[in-house]
Amino acid sequence: MLDLAIIGGGPAGLSAGLYATRGGLGNVVMFERGIIGGQITGSSEIENYPGQKNPGESGLDFMSTWSKQCMHFGLKHEAANVSKVSRNEDGSFKISLENGKEMNAKAVIVATGSTPKRAGFKGEDEFFGRGVSTCATCDGFFYKNKEVAVLGGGDTALEEAIYLSNICSKVYLVHRRDGFRAAPTTVEKARKNEKIEFVTSATIKEAYGDKMGLGGLTLNTKEGERDLKVPGVFTFVGLNVNNQILLQDDGKFLCEMSENGEMIVDLKMRTNVPGLFGAGDIRIDAPKQVVCAAGDGAMAALSALSYIENLH
Ligand code: FAD
Ligand code: NAP
Repeated sequence: MLDLAIIGGGPAGLSAGLYATRGGLGNVVMFERGIIGGQITGSSEIENYPGQKNPGESGLDFMSTWSKQCMHFGLKHEAANVSKVSRNEDGSFKISLENGKEMNAKAVIVATGSTPKRAGFKGEDEFFGRGVSTCATCDGFFYKNKEVAVLGGGDTALEEAIYLSNICSKVYLVHRRDGFRAAPTTVEKARKNEKIEFVTSATIKEAYGDKMGLGGLTLNTKEGERDLKVPGVFTFVGLNVNNQILLQDDGKFLCEMSENGEMIVDLKMRTNVPGLFGAGDIRIDAPKQVVCAAGDGAMAALSALSYIENLH
């Protein structure tokens, strides 16, 4: 029986691991299905984590020291996709892995974060991975000295448009409104960038191309249809929370969830199920920031320590 299972190895999961192991738990396993470090590892830069030595470094570089620190204090890492978390009759939890393995744990911290949404335009799925991308750091280089489009008006779209402008000859920033969700300073920086053309009050009607990949985009704009002959489009239209592991056989979630599918937790990251905690982007009202996810992870671990102590 594990003392604590942590699902997800992003900032929330890693911070939970650090606090749980340093807090004296001996058998703590963090399950991660992908790259340790979470979604920020796909970001071209991060500059708002307090005390950062190299503001502006890539998310991958920034996160590279986190897991080393956790492992130093005894956190175990299992590279696996968790398919379900359920509750045993004695109040402990069963962690079911996609590979068929099952493990039991006294307490569980769910820190599965979120993943990029699809925008829903025609041709998006057909050309996904062949011109349509959700990761500028991963795919930007394929469009060196070429024109690309970026879709969205949030922090991610604006920041990644600026990043792409350093690689590509031109970036069309396509956004469905005239106003932006992104921080005003970021919008200002993008507006001053001569390589970025703002195409606002515009949506993508269709992505077209052939066997070779994306050929371009047809936009709906205020002035009518507009053709953008771009071989690449980067879509940053928000995130979906990764809550599937909490879905039970009866179709209900293991704990109370918000209407957006986020885990409802209190200030101690406790759900309505004793021993089950939520931390980071997966929880209700998450500010979706690395520093907040890390704080949540630490809080969840402290709550788990206290819960486990009271079991004896
Ligand atoms: P995540 O980072 O999403 O980590 C969750 C982890 O759980 C993932 O590694 C995932 O693989 C794993 N996982 C999910 N399901 C399973 C499963 N079933 N089994 C096993 N593992 C699973 N925030 C900032 O503060 N500053 C920034 O500059 C900034 N820039 C960003 C740029 C981009 C492009 C993006 C996408 C986000 C950015 N953010 C930024 C937001 C920040 O990355 C998130 O708020 C933060 O990573 C959330 O941490 P988390 O640990 O809750 O979740
Ligand atoms: P977001 O803030 O949800 O923004 C999504 C954008 O996509 C919005 O502008 C939205 O338009 C647009 N959009 C949504 N659905 C669309 C569709 N189907 N077609 C076209 N456009 C669509 O998402 P995000 O930018 O990925 O940010 C997620 C969270 O991470 C936010 O909380 C953000 O602050 C945080 N983050 C922070 C930083 C940072 O601190 N530096 C960096 C990146 C991300 P509308 O505005 O019209 O709704």
